[in-house]
Amino acid sequence: MKVLVINAGSSSLKYQLIDMEDESVKAKGLCERIGIDGSRLTHKVPGKDDYVVEEDMPTHQKAIEMVLDALVSPEYGVVASVDEIDAVGHRVLHGGSTYTESIKVNDDVKRVIRECFDLGPLHNPANLMGIEACEAAMPGKANVAVFDTAFGMGLEPYAYRYAIPEEYYDKYKIRRYGFHGTSHMFVSGETIRFANLPEGHQRVIVCHLGNGSSISASVGGRAVDTSMGLTPLEGLVMGTRSGDVDPAVVQFICDHENISVDDMLTILNKKSGVYALSGNLSSDFRDLSAAADSGNEKAQLALDAFAHKVVKTVGGYLGVMNGADAIAFTGGIGENDCAMRERIMKQFGFAGVKLDPEKNKVRGKACEISTPDSAIRVFVLPTNEELAIARETVRLA
Ligand code: ADP
Repeated sequence: MKVLVINAGSSSLKYQLIDMEDESVKAKGLCERIGIDGSRLTHKVPGKDDYVVEEDMPTHQKAIEMVLDALVSPEYGVVASVDEIDAVGHRVLHGGSTYTESIKVNDDVKRVIRECFDLGPLHNPANLMGIEACEAAMPGKANVAVFDTAFGMGLEPYAYRYAIPEEYYDKYKIRRYGFHGTSHMFVSGETIRFANLPEGHQRVIVCHLGNGSSISASVGGRAVDTSMGLTPLEGLVMGTRSGDVDPAVVQFICDHENISVDDMLTILNKKSGVYALSGNLSSDFRDLSAAADSGNEKAQLALDAFAHKVVKTVGGYLGVMNGADAIAFTGGIGENDCAMRERIMKQFGFAGVKLDPEKNKVRGKACEISTPDSAIRVFVLPTNEELAIARETVRLA
């Protein structure tokens, strides 16, 4: 079975064609600048040079048509015809409180995705355009929506409700949804499998640390808590997102700077996080580590604040689950930044967590990095959201 995975953004569209026989990627690529001058498609087939097509892409519909042309092209194609694609899996940001898991797309599903435009204003409209473009280009083919919020829908009310008047939950479903759900679902499941955790000992904490960062706690693959909230702004200190701040900060700055709440949210999403703490030096941890090593105090502050918040969150989840059987690191930082992993895990030495310094040098591949006598087993487990979406698509299509 071959599955086309689509991640449609407002002006870009990423895709992968995965052969589910062996879960190998046959081709992948990116359409950039959809609806903007200078649009282009970059199509990558393992073992071949990149195939780049520079052509106007006024709509997502045109982008999908170009993707399908590339997939069947005699020179750069990987299938003889579109008929060989069995189903399409779509990353969809927000499923609201309606969808607790992935679902095959029909008119009701599209209506709910549309109803969630105000919860995911940047992503949901684009995600829906991707679905409708695939329906038009490949009539009759199954489309599956995989929601980034679905994993967080497993939370109990005491974990997902905000302590604010009930009417806001009743009227608007204001609650913790959590994001990166597809990654947390994938990595918690892979951790259970890779570590061979027995039934009843599957308390897993996943630290997804990248440009956007979040942490989840789950038991047997079911979420019990997660750090992002109504939007991806809550929780950890991130690349350019502030994470948790006292909401009164918003009012104070809006009043004193005479800016709108919308402006303030843009600042909290795009100009905050380690980028702001480092004095606008960088949101990239490689730059921050290099700067901190050469004595830049603001870069050091940014790294310290990031680590501090991760430690507080992991510590909180250890309490919530009365311990943990495994902790897994994933995302660009989690998979590659050995020094950050060491520094975070060192704080759990009191609980008997011990990293093996040699194993902790691993980058970008699955590995157990704790010592055999560590009280909690610690892993690096690369995330693969496209594969997770493809597996869900096979399950439902
Ligand atoms: P996104 O949230 O955009 O998917 P990623 O998970 O790809 O982000 O993570 C990107 C971040 O990972 C970069 O900003 C960088 O800070 C970090 N990163 C990548 N490689 C390394 C590395 N070798 N050492 C430290 N940090 C790294």
